Amino acid sequence: MRRNEKRTRRIVKHRAGDLCERCGMVFGQSAHHRKNRGQGGEWSPTNIVWLCGDGVAGCHGWVTAHPADARTTGFHVPWWEEPAEIPIRSLLHGVVLLADDGTVTCYPDAEEANR
Ligand SMILES: [Zn+2]
Repeated sequence: MRRNEKRTRRIVKHRAGDLCERCGMVFGQSAHHRKNRGQGGEWSPTNIVWLCGDGVAGCHGWVTAHPADARTTGFHVPWWEEPAEIPIRSLLHGVVLLADDGTVTCYPDAEEANR
């Protein structure tokens, strides 16, 4: 396991309180790359979320099976966008931006931002 991966797993699990960062209901079981590794997605706390299930079950399975909805909710980030700038809509955290130090910041909703 590479150093970045080890560090990121530790930070992300702590951020999540070990719970799934999508549903917040059950313990997470797997690390999900918001931006795919093959598209330059890194092992960093902005790009990794801790999800229940795996590639076919739970929230990790949901993300894999519903790419469009996963993009709307920030769990999938296309290669041309920066994970640090795309909020996730999480039942655990709310609507937040993820930072590399493991903190989360509330993201203003669109209405508020346009005022
Ligand atoms: Zn879940």
